[in-house]
Amino acid sequence: MEDMIRVYGASWCPDCRRAKRFLGDQRVSFEWHDIETDPDGVRIVQERNNGNNIIPTIVFPDGSHLSEPSNEELAEKIGLERAAMMHVYDLIVIGGGPAGLTTSIYAARENQQTLVIDSKGLGGQAGVTERLDNYPGFPEGIGGAELADRIVQQAQKYGVEMLQAVSVVQIESEGGGEQVDVEAATGDHYHGRSALIATGSTYRRTGAEGEEDLIGAGIHFCATCDGPFYKGASQLVVLGGGNSALEEGLFLTQFVDKVTIVQRGDRLTANKLLQDKVNMDDQMEVLFNREIVGFRAKDDGSGKLGAIELKDRESGQVEELHPAACFVFIGLDPNTDFVKGVVDLDDRGLILTGMGMMTNVPGVFAAGDVRSGSTKQLASAVGEGAAAAIGIRQFLEAQESKPVHMM
Ligand SMILES: Cc1cc2nc3c(=O)[nH]c(=O)nc-3n(C[C@H](O)[C@H](O)[C@H](O)COP(=O)(O)OP(=O)(O)OC[C@H]3O[C@@H](n4cnc5c(N)ncnc54)[C@H](O)[C@@H]3O)c2cc1C
Repeated sequence: MEDMIRVYGASWCPDCRRAKRFLGDQRVSFEWHDIETDPDGVRIVQERNNGNNIIPTIVFPDGSHLSEPSNEELAEKIGLERAAMMHVYDLIVIGGGPAGLTTSIYAARENQQTLVIDSKGLGGQAGVTERLDNYPGFPEGIGGAELADRIVQQAQKYGVEMLQAVSVVQIESEGGGEQVDVEAATGDHYHGRSALIATGSTYRRTGAEGEEDLIGAGIHFCATCDGPFYKGASQLVVLGGGNSALEEGLFLTQFVDKVTIVQRGDRLTANKLLQDKVNMDDQMEVLFNREIVGFRAKDDGSGKLGAIELKDRESGQVEELHPAACFVFIGLDPNTDFVKGVVDLDDRGLILTGMGMMTNVPGVFAAGDVRSGSTKQLASAVGEGAAAAIGIRQFLEAQESKPVHMM
C-alpha cells in the first residue's frame, strides 16, 4: 500500500486540472503522474478502468481508486468538512462560476456577509477551459484555470466564504419573503437575506440507446478534454450543427484524418464564418438529416464504442458509422432542476428575471449562463454578476429601510 494519493492524468485534460486544483485547495498532498510521459501510468489507468483510458484516475492509499470523480465524490472520499461557518448570510450565491464569484466580490467588498456554494470546484466552466482568447484585458489570452484562480483570490481577499463540492438541492422563500432557505445536499440549511442563482448549464446528451454505457469509452462531451486520446485515428464523429459542434470539430482535425459532422436538420445552424471554415476544410464532411438510432460497443469485449447507428430522416434508411469516438455537442441544459416550481423559467428551463436581475421570488436573483436571455460568454457572465450585485444591494437597502411593525 502507498501512503500518498496518486493522480494519473494528462496536462491537456481539464478534469485532471480540476481534480488537482481541488486537492491542492484542500491542502491534500498527492503525486501527479502524467500518462503522456509515464508508460507505467497508462498501464495503471487501463488496469483500473477495464482497458479504458479514463482520466483522471485517482488511486488512494487504501488501494481503492476513483475514475473521473466529481469534486463531491473526492470530498467524500477524503473526508472533507463541507459545512459553512454561519447559518445566516446577507447573500448566498449558488454556483461559484464567473457570474457568481463576481457578484460575491462586489457584495463582500461592501461588507455583506457572503457565502458561495459550488457543487464542483470554483471557477465554473471557465476554470476548466484550456484557453480564453476573447476575455478583455488579456491580449495574449489567458488559461481558464489561471483566470479562475485570480477571481477566487479576489473573492478571498474580501472575505467571501466558499464551499466546494456541495450541491444545493432546494431553495425556498421563508418568513413572507424576509429570507431564503438554501438546502445543501449535505442536509445543512443556510439562510440568506438574498440569494443569487448562478448555476450555469450542462452539456445535453442524446438519450439514444447505448449512450449511457459508452460515456468515457468513445462518447465524449469535450473535445479539448478527450480529443488528444484519438491522435492518429482515421475518423471522429461530431454530433450537432451549431457553433460549439463546428468549433470543436475543427479543433479535432489536428488529431485525425477525417471529422464527420452529423446534423439532425437539413442545414447547419452555426455562424457563417464557421460554416465557411468547415466547407473549406478537406478533413471535414457533413451529413445532414441524420437521426441517432443508437450506439453499440465493439464485439471484442473492450466495452469501447464500435458503431453509431444513424437513420436518414428522408429515406428512412439506417446506416452505420465506425469512428474512433463520437463527440456530442447538441446544446446545453440549464442547471435549474432544483428551482423548478420555485422561480419562473422560460420554455428552455432558463431563469426569467426582471429589473435588477431579480426573479419572481423577492430576494432571489439570477445571473450568467443560467439566466434567460444571457449570451453564454464569459465576459457577459461577469457583467451580469456585477449587475446582479447592484440589484441585490438595492434590494437589501430597501429591506432595511422598511418600517418595523411593533406588535
Ligand atoms: C469548453 C468551453 C469553452 C469555452 N470558451 C469560452 C471562450 O473562449 N470565451 C467565452 O467568453 N466563453 C467561453 N465559454 C463559456 C463560459 O465559460 C461561460 O459562459 C461562463 O463560464 C458562464 O459562467 P457562469 O458563472 O454563468 O456559469 P458556469 O461557469 O457554468 O458556473 C456555474 C457553476 O455552478 C455550479 N453549480 C451548478 N449546479 C449547482 C448546484 N445545484 N449547487 C451548487 N453549485 C452548482 C457549477 O459547478 C459551476 O461551477 C466556454 C465554455 C466551455 C464549456
